[in-house]
Formats: sequence, C-alpha cells, structure tokens
Amino acid sequence: MNECADIIIIGGGIHGASLAFHLAGYGLRPLVLERKTLAAEATGHSSGLVRMHYDLEPESRLAWESFQYFRDWEARVGGDCGFRRTGFLQFVGPEYIPALRANIAMHQRLGIPSLLVTGEDVRRLAPAMEVGDIEFAAYEPESGYADPSSTTGSLMAAARQRGARLMQGCKVTGIKTYGGRVQGVQTTQGEFSACVVVDAAGAWAGEVARMAEVDVPITTWRHDTMFIRRPPELRLGHPTVIDFPKVIYFRPETGGLTLVGLEEGNVQGETPPEGEAVPDPGFVDRAVEQICKRIPAMENGSFHSSLRGYDGITPDQRPVLGQAGPDGFYLCCGFSGTGFKIGPAVGACMAELIVDGRSRTVDISSFNPERFARGDLLQGEHAYENIWR
Ligand SMILES: Cc1cc2nc3c(=O)[nH]c(=O)nc-3n(C[C@H](O)[C@H](O)[C@H](O)COP(=O)(O)OP(=O)(O)OC[C@H]3O[C@@H](n4cnc5c(N)ncnc54)[C@H](O)[C@@H]3O)c2cc1C
Repeated sequence: MNECADIIIIGGGIHGASLAFHLAGYGLRPLVLERKTLAAEATGHSSGLVRMHYDLEPESRLAWESFQYFRDWEARVGGDCGFRRTGFLQFVGPEYIPALRANIAMHQRLGIPSLLVTGEDVRRLAPAMEVGDIEFAAYEPESGYADPSSTTGSLMAAARQRGARLMQGCKVTGIKTYGGRVQGVQTTQGEFSACVVVDAAGAWAGEVARMAEVDVPITTWRHDTMFIRRPPELRLGHPTVIDFPKVIYFRPETGGLTLVGLEEGNVQGETPPEGEAVPDPGFVDRAVEQICKRIPAMENGSFHSSLRGYDGITPDQRPVLGQAGPDGFYLCCGFSGTGFKIGPAVGACMAELIVDGRSRTVDISSFNPERFARGDLLQGEHAYENIWR
C-alpha cells in the first residue's frame, strides 16, 4: 500500500487529534497514525486539570485560548469534553509569594479570571482543608478539569467529519526523506506519502524524531496518580488544587472520588513498558500521607485505584513546537506532564504554522526546537522551581 495524505500526524493523543481537527478546518485531509488506539497513552492517563496558572506567559496564553474551547465545547467542536468547573487554587511556599503576586498580575493582564486570596479566604472556600501554612494563594474561579479521553474522542470525531482520517494499530517505523524534504512514512501497515509529517508521539517523540535524523532532547517522564473514595463528611467535594508545599495536586472526580498526584518521584528516562504500567507499591502510601496533611478528613477515605502514565519531557519542562530537520518535518511534543489543557490552542497554532508559516492564535515561536542547542531554555519571568521533581 502506498497511500497519499496532505499531512501525516504521528500519534493519536490530544495533540494529534487537535491538530487534525484544526488542519481539517482548512479543508486539508490529515491522516493520524496511531500505533495503539486513540488516547491510549499520556492523554488517556491524564489527570485532566484545566487551569491557566503558569509562570510563563505563552503557556498561560495557550491555556487561556484552550479554555475558551473547554467552556464552549459543544459549539466549537461538538460532543462532550467533560469539563467541570470546580475552581482552582495554586498554593506556594512563602518564598514564592512575590512570584505568585506577579504571575497573577500577568494572568489578569491577559484577561484570565485569577485572584490573590488569603489563607482565611481559602478556609472559607474549602473548609475541610488545613491551611495554617498558606498565607496567600491564587484562585481561578472558572477553572477545573475535563475528561481527556472524551476531549480527544470528540476532537477526532469532528476532524473526521471534516475529512481527516485515523488509522489505529498502525506504528510508524521510519520516515522517508529525499533531497532534504520529508516524503512520507513507513509503518506496520505499509507506506504513506505526504510532504508534511508531524511528530506528536508523546513519550516516544524523541524516538520518532530520530527516524528523521532530528536530535531533540526529549526523554520520558513517568507519573503515578491515585483515586480515593472520599468519606461522607467530604461528600460536597473540594476545589482543584496544585499544592507546592505538600508536593501534590488533587481534584474531585465524579462518584465521590478524589484524584491525587505527587509532584516528586516522577522518574525520567525509563523505557515505557508495552502493556499497561502500574504504580510502585510505595506510591499510594506517600500520596495518602500528603493528602491527609492537607485534608485531614481523608483519613476516613478508602483506596479506589491507581494508574501510571508516561509523557515526553524536555530540559526546561516546556513543549517543543515547530519545524526541525528536513523540510516538512514538525515537532509537536515535549509537553512535560502539563500538555492536556493546552491541546485545543496548540492544535490551532500548529495548523497556522504549517499552513501560513506563523501562528496567530498565540505566538508559539519561543517554543522553537533550536532553543536547546542555543542553551536558551525557557523560564518564567517570575519563576517557580520546575514543577516535576
Ligand atoms: C499521569 C499523567 C497525568 C497528567 N495530568 C495532566 C493534567 O492534569 N493536566 C494537563 O494539562 N496535563 C497532564 N498531563 C500531561 C498530558 O496528559 C500530556 O502532556 C498530553 O496528554 C500529551 O499528549 P500527546 O498527544 O502529546 O501524547 P500522547 O497522549 O502520549 O499521544 C502520543 C501517541 O503517540 C503514539 N505513538 C508513539 N509512537 C508511535 C509510532 N511510532 N507510531 C504511531 N504512533 C505512535 C502513542 O501510542 C500515543 O498514543 C498528565 C500526564 C500524565 C502521564
């Protein structure tokens, strides 16, 4: 088989599906090649937090543009993304309060609903939380979480309605180039031709880039999460929280559950297993210990389930977006454990870059792949330390 497509996208996660959706909006017929099934990897394991609080302005812009989709999904995409507005709180240690204030001011300048609140305000918002160590926090009343599998499924369904194609169970094994241009890909289901190929292969993006002789510093990042059944006294739930002092994040889930993720112990550089991965035995105990420090009544909860996922991570924990290596080869990867929430806008920007040569929705030029070779790593103007330890 040697089929032709306008554009080939390698990887059927949120980013492959979003890019296909936006490209198809230009009347193009992209082909998404996925070695497993749609949203089988990072996206399907994602905690789905949707917030705009970043210390880097272009990331907040991407999150804010994407939020317009999550809030108005049916009209913009169709189907359901499972967005739930819970309110979002960002907790930081005392050393980061000046940065927190400055970042909230940046968010407000972008039009993002974000407020500086006191520990006392937090107590009123979430009475079950122990917040003696929190002097100030950022509060985003409109933020919450979405369902990553439904989000990706509805983006891909809408893309297919517009003319895109999806092949599942189709692993890309090689990238064909000639005279410094990409020509297509070799796969377990034959060869496909296209003069544009996009690497949206998540934790495998470095491996895929090497098929085009592109060396990009993306390694794998492993992350475990768990669900707790909340006790009756916590049935009303709680906001979504990123809690730097306790090195965790958590959010409510339907069915009286709470999802907890740890921001330490996320091993890098491991080869993901072929089958479903399971968290280390000690993970659940550490996560429970931390969440009980913040919400003591969780002591009366019970374990529900845990899972492990892998994403691609870069040295500055920011994505890589742009052309690299042979003409027609693009990178849309390196989302470093925080890429779900920016999926809708990244797809729009990458489609603009591919079709028009520059992105308009948000300027993504600072995420260019050359920054690593130049030693020009991205850092927020009022930086927190890297999230993942
Ligand atoms: C446990 C966990 C929790 C997270 N929580 C959040 C969160 O709360 N909020 C947030 O914004 N982000 C979160 N993230 C990050 C976010 O989920 C990822 O950044 C995002 O899903 C990456 O999407 P992707 O499309 O780039 O990659 P993926 O979803 O991994 O998709 C890449 C796809 O490429 C396929 N592929 C790989 N190699 C090939 C090949 N050779 N041929 C064909 N297909 C190939 C894979 O099978 C995979 O399906 C989390 C990540 C994890 C792992």
